[in-house]
Amino acid sequence: MKILIKNGRIIDPSQDIDGIGEVFIENGKIRETTIVQKRRSTEARKVKTSELSNFRTIDASGCIVIPGLVDMHTHLREPGFEYKETIKTGTKAAARGGFTAVCCMPNTNPVNDTIAVTEFIIKKALQEGSCTVYPIGAITKSQKSEELAELEALKRSGCVAFSDDGRPVTNSLIMRHALEYSKIFDVPIISHCEDLYLSEGGVMNEGFVSTILGLRGIPKAAEEIMVARDLALCQLTGGKLHIAHVSTKGSVDLIRQAKERGINVTAETCPHYFSLTDESLVSYDTNFKVNPPVRTEKDVEAIKQGLKDGTIDVIATDHAPHHIDDKTKEFDAAAFGISGLETAFSLGLQLVEQGILNLKQLIINMSVTPSVIMRIPKGTLSSGSDADIAIINLEHSFVVDSSRFLSKGKNSPFNGWSLKGTVEKTISMGKVHDWT
Ligand SMILES: [Zn+2]
Repeated sequence: MKILIKNGRIIDPSQDIDGIGEVFIENGKIRETTIVQKRRSTEARKVKTSELSNFRTIDASGCIVIPGLVDMHTHLREPGFEYKETIKTGTKAAARGGFTAVCCMPNTNPVNDTIAVTEFIIKKALQEGSCTVYPIGAITKSQKSEELAELEALKRSGCVAFSDDGRPVTNSLIMRHALEYSKIFDVPIISHCEDLYLSEGGVMNEGFVSTILGLRGIPKAAEEIMVARDLALCQLTGGKLHIAHVSTKGSVDLIRQAKERGINVTAETCPHYFSLTDESLVSYDTNFKVNPPVRTEKDVEAIKQGLKDGTIDVIATDHAPHHIDDKTKEFDAAAFGISGLETAFSLGLQLVEQGILNLKQLIINMSVTPSVIMRIPKGTLSSGSDADIAIINLEHSFVVDSSRFLSKGKNSPFNGWSLKGTVEKTISMGKVHDWT
């Protein structure tokens, strides 16, 4: 299958490209990416004009053509929770959101702490997936913080990182060992930072609003204590630490200081942490219930500043789909999590509109850098790389209707929001997905 994408604005930060041009795809790989204006003056297109009739042409007029987005923090729920999401539906949602690769967290049932589960996920994704799936293995067996999982075997079978996400690694000695191994295996340890004693029973950010609403709060310190611990362990071991879903100003400050001291840490935040505050919970809508919780205006500003100055490297989704029965409960009993794949890029685009990031930085945060951190061959339109591309109309706006999500999880706090940036097509390994 040969495809020519033309008339679009190609933005590929990995090659410092930004201009109207053409992308040629052949056998699932990018054969050539050229900028039209540049070509006239300096370089000749390698694809001959006589060959063009063999290519299926996609007209990307008015759209940007970018490396497919890469989500380094997704919950696909399979195996074990197929009523919430499956590899098939989760990757469809990913493609709908412009993602061509997702890294899936191990808190499935059984937990991905064995070769069998890792191989199952990879095989299922190859059979049914709409994008590439990279499994993340558990740091500890059954995510119980008692004993390290077989990290080397998991890495060999295809895990690209390790995390106990959903839970913290409570045992500091085990976390130390995990970070030591991360250096040997050159894979990141992704930390879900939460002090379970401080957060126990909490359902939202602890503060003025939680007091007014009469809901039990989770203090910011529950996150920051673990960020501080893991930064100390990272300094001690020289391991490869990545902090998941940063939600507080204190965490941003700690990570900034650590980076200034030369500690080998990277960090991510998620769209809800720069788009929402705890005041949105006055509706008692459980779609706003997420862990860590959405915080205050001051934290939102710090997260934005952290993205702007590079303290936070990545925007990940923490896509956490739930069945409606898990959410239509009283607030205390409802599940934590947001179905995020299908709104992430558009929410990121709001940062561009606000002047926090430019478009190039947003693409770096959502495609290039996660690929670099996870050491996966994605996030580029260079010749010979996988044909993973998102074609997005930036000006076209839409109203979020979560009932129409391709994800099984309809749990979105952004339902009814008017957002810009519709994903017209996602091309994954040369396969075209579209919805028009
Ligand atoms: Zn988490």
